[in-house]
Amino acid sequence: MLNFTIGPVAMDEEIRKIGSEQIPYFRTPEFSELMLENEALMKRYMGAGEGARVLFLTGSGTASMEAAVMNLFDENDRLLVVNGGSFGQRFVDICEIHGIPHEVIALAAGKALRAEHLAPYEGQRFTGFLVNLHETSTGVHYDIGLIREFCKTCGAMLVVDSISSFLADPFDMEESGADVVITGSQKALALPPGLSVIALSRRAAARVESRKIKSLYFDLKLYLKDGTRGQTPFTPAVSVLIQLNKRLKRMEAGGPEAESRRMERLAEDFRARIKDLPLEEISESPSNAMTALHPLRVPAYRVYEILKEEYGIFVCPNGGALRDEIFRVGHLGALTEEDNKVLSDALHDMERRGLL
Ligand SMILES: *Cc1c(COP(=O)(O)O)cnc(C)c1O
Repeated sequence: MLNFTIGPVAMDEEIRKIGSEQIPYFRTPEFSELMLENEALMKRYMGAGEGARVLFLTGSGTASMEAAVMNLFDENDRLLVVNGGSFGQRFVDICEIHGIPHEVIALAAGKALRAEHLAPYEGQRFTGFLVNLHETSTGVHYDIGLIREFCKTCGAMLVVDSISSFLADPFDMEESGADVVITGSQKALALPPGLSVIALSRRAAARVESRKIKSLYFDLKLYLKDGTRGQTPFTPAVSVLIQLNKRLKRMEAGGPEAESRRMERLAEDFRARIKDLPLEEISESPSNAMTALHPLRVPAYRVYEILKEEYGIFVCPNGGALRDEIFRVGHLGALTEEDNKVLSDALHDMERRGLL
C-alpha cells in the first residue's frame, strides 16, 4: 500500500525495526542521556537559539497546541489568530474553550496571508499571535516574514504550529522571531503518532515559569523542570523517543536543509507529472509538504475512494465543506519519485477511464 497521506506517513525500515523491540525502563541515566541529546538536536534543527528549551509531550500535535496556548495566555490577553482552514479553526476553538480574547483573520481556502490582512490590526494591542505555518487542510504555507514584522511592532508572542511544515519547508525559529514552535511525530519526522514537541524561546520559557495554570498533565513547568535532567513528569512514548533519536542523529550530515530540499524536489516532481490532468492546485503559496488538488470534473472524495479501492494508494481526503472539493497528496515520509510515478500513472489511468 502506497501512503501519500499527511500522517501517519510511510516509515523507513530502520525506524520500523526499533518499533518492534522491547521497550526499556526509562527512569535511567541512559534514557536521560538520549533525551538530552533529543533536546539538543531538536534545538539545533529548529534554530531555537540561546536559552530556548524543547519539551516532549506524549499526545498528538493538538495536545501541544492546547498546552502552548494554556501555558502562555489567559483572559487578560488578546490574541490574533490566522484561520485559513481546519487547523486555524483548531486554534480558534482552543481560545474559545479557554476563554482567551481573540481576533480572527479568516482566509478563504487556498489564499495566502498578505499585508492587507494584517493592516486593520496595526497599532492595536495584541499579546499573542497564533498561526499554522502550513495550513494542512488547504496546503497554504504562510509568509512568516510578514508575521514576524507584525509581531515585532506590537510585541506579541508568536506561536507557530509547524506540525506539518517542520523539515518540509525551510524555517529558523530565532530568525522568524517565534516564541513557540510546535511539531509532531507523524508528519515529516515520519515516526509513529503519539509524540509532540514544543520549543520555547527564552522569553516564552520564562513566561511559562511565571504562570499558574489549571491542568496537571499540560503544566509545562513540570516538563521544563524534569527536562533539565533528561526526564519527563509522566511516562513518555518511550519507543517513539528512541526512534526520534535515531531519526535526528541520521540527519546530522545534511540537517533540516537537506530534508526540505529533498521534499521540495519530490513535490516539484509530482506537480510536473500531473500538469496535464483536470486537477487544479488550490494553494496560492504551497508548502513542500503536500499538494492540495481540486478535481475539475468529479467529486474529490470519489478520487480518494477509487485510488484506495482500485489502486491501493492512499491520498488524504478533506472533511467538512471541502470533502468534495479537495484531496491532498503528501510528500512526507519514505516516498520516492518512483512512488510519484505510480500515483501519477493511476491518476492518468483514471482520466482515461472517465473517472477523473
Ligand atoms: C497534523 C496537524 C496537527 C496535529 O494534528 P494531530 O491529529 O493532533 O496530530 C496540527 N496542526 C497542523 C497544521 C497539522 O498538520
